[in-house]
Amino acid sequence: MHRNRRAASTESSSTTFITEDDMVCICQSGFEAETIVCWSDENVGRRLYVCCREKYGGGCDWKTWKDPKMSEQTKHVICRLLRRIKSLEEKRAKEKKICARAKRQRKNFEFGY
Ligand SMILES: [Zn+2]
Repeated sequence: MHRNRRAASTESSSTTFITEDDMVCICQSGFEAETIVCWSDENVGRRLYVCCREKYGGGCDWKTWKDPKMSEQTKHVICRLLRRIKSLEEKRAKEKKICARAKRQRKNFEFGY
């Protein structure tokens, strides 16, 4: 284990190590866990540790939350902002399409088609 990591808690399935700025989590198979971000409505933006071998299909299916549970208000605000971004992106994509079509039509008109 790295010199400046100290064991913070030892559960039956995992050991958590804390460094000055971040935590390093070891899965039940002894591999350093990876941090991923959950985007479900219930845990929007909440980070969790997963077995680092998970993405190669050889993981141990172990996972644990990195961030504490969020308040209802926090979830509500983040979900609302995400929906707003999505709707603005959709609007922008539609307008881009309309612009491209108008450009094409103008070109055709200029060339007398
Ligand atoms: Zn593992």
